[in-house]
Amino acid sequence: MSKAEDDYDYLFKIVLSGDSGVGKSNLLLRFTKNQFNPDSKTTIGVEFATRSITISGKIIKAQIWDTAGQERYRAITSAYYRGAIGAVLVYDITNKQSFEAVERWIQEVRENADKDIVIMIIGNKSDLKHLRAIRTESGQDLAQMQKVAFMEASAQDGTNVDQAFTQIIQQIYQNLT
Ligand code: GDP
Ligand code: MG
Repeated sequence: MSKAEDDYDYLFKIVLSGDSGVGKSNLLLRFTKNQFNPDSKTTIGVEFATRSITISGKIIKAQIWDTAGQERYRAITSAYYRGAIGAVLVYDITNKQSFEAVERWIQEVRENADKDIVIMIIGNKSDLKHLRAIRTESGQDLAQMQKVAFMEASAQDGTNVDQAFTQIIQQIYQNLT
């Protein structure tokens, strides 16, 4: 059997959403390339990036979609969500407004994506402890209310980034099998 890069058993489309500046592009960069970009202005928005992980001997290729800044204008189109089986909604733990926006983003996902979509909330920038505006418990409560998964993470120092994406990929896989 070939060992080509494109050798996989499942392809999962997962979308990132959330307010501008919360760290979506950097979470993607950390998960797929183990890199961090401190200057968001120089980030060129990619359509998506991929990383394959193995679960129960199956190769799962996660194709993770990033907004190209359209979230600023709340102009994410339904095409973005089409075919997605996972959605990661990101807020910044130092930014109350971004947390308050999460429910709207969840609503947008639920209106535009498949009804069985698996949703996870990430409270990003957990490294900025001295600037924290949203308690961990508030994130947990919101996730529980919305019946979705939750994790705090840091794209900057890498804390929980692999864990969060792996968890949503595992949950999608479990739902399929
Ligand atoms: P996006 O607009 O949601 O895609 O956010 P970006 O990934 O472009 O990040 C916005 C800004 O926050 C950039 O200056 C990043 O370097 C910074 N940033 C992203 N993630 C983190 C993090 O985990 N910790 C810290 N301290 N800064 C972060
Ligand atoms: Mg971005």
